[in-house]
Amino acid sequence: MIEVKNLVKRYGSNVAVDNLSFKVEKGQIYGFLGPNGAGKSTTMNIITGYIAASDGEVIINGHNIFEEPELAKKSIGYLPEIPPLYVDMTPYEYLKFAAELKKIDKKERDKMIDEVMKLTKITDVSNRLIRNLSKGYKQRVGLAQAILGYPEVIILDEPTVGLDPKQIIEIRDLIKSLSKKHTVILSSHILSEVSAVCDYVMIISKGKLVASDTPKNLSKLMAGSNALELTIRGDKKKLETILNGIDAIQEFEIHNSIEERAVDITMKIASQSDIREDIFYAMAEAKCPILAMKVSNMSLEDVFLELTGEDKEVKENQIELEKKSFEKMENEEEKEDERSL
Ligand code: ADP
Ligand code: MG
Repeated sequence: MIEVKNLVKRYGSNVAVDNLSFKVEKGQIYGFLGPNGAGKSTTMNIITGYIAASDGEVIINGHNIFEEPELAKKSIGYLPEIPPLYVDMTPYEYLKFAAELKKIDKKERDKMIDEVMKLTKITDVSNRLIRNLSKGYKQRVGLAQAILGYPEVIILDEPTVGLDPKQIIEIRDLIKSLSKKHTVILSSHILSEVSAVCDYVMIISKGKLVASDTPKNLSKLMAGSNALELTIRGDKKKLETILNGIDAIQEFEIHNSIEERAVDITMKIASQSDIREDIFYAMAEAKCPILAMKVSNMSLEDVFLELTGEDKEVKENQIELEKKSFEKMENEEEKEDERSL
């Protein structure tokens, strides 16, 4: 359906899309997941023929987007990050205009416009000026334009940004219903959104594809980073020596425990190994009773953070900074209060 090969987009020395390759099959919902600036919009703009690539190939339904843009674009409907709405038109006028651009048969136009307005629930505002519509309605008008003519591939850049929770649910349901007849690619920087809607996730970081799989498999894939949490009664030094002797443990940390004469241990384990029994026997031999042992698998959230390098440390630092600036603000407010007294 869509094949992207070694796609590159440079802006000066900044590489926005860095050798991206992937394939998209029919009738599925694909999600581009990545933090802001990862290159999602740039990739979508290239696939849809909005901007040129620096290098690489995009084939849509057998047509190269750079060589046969008209034919390639025919099978794509696109909702860009900022929908190109003409605010002095009504939704009906705008869709009529879009239908002309899409060269939809004159006899079919009105029927098709009617259908997409029903699908996106904008019929009751069809004769109001777009400029007077709420953000949610504007987004739906953009979506109606993307679906109009039922292109085989529908590409949506951050379709739920700026919508309220109720609108988000409605748009998600609509996207899901579209996948019965269409292939959908959507982008989002919100993990829960992608895992709720998409059959397949492509995680993009700094212009590179760092992982692609079903949401379920992505969590499994990272099973290599399985972690164990333990509480063991025994001497810290002694436990350190024992744990250092178990190869499959990649790293471990020992903390004080609320349990008497015991420590809490967290450890990361090499991929696909289950070392619970090894630990049991090692501790039994050393006469260090295990009081608790728990496997903690990585959530998709952890996978995302790890793959995109959005380290927890960075996040924690950020929270720390925010706290400090908040305290500073409070201090200054107090001083203000004192002065005004
Ligand atoms: P995303 O959609 O994932 O947030 P973008 O594709 O918008 O990311 O941006 C990817 C990178 O390319 C960013 O570093 C951004 O600053 C840069 N970029 C995007 N558009 C331009 C442009 N027109 N000129 C220069 N740099 C750009
Ligand atoms: Mg974007």
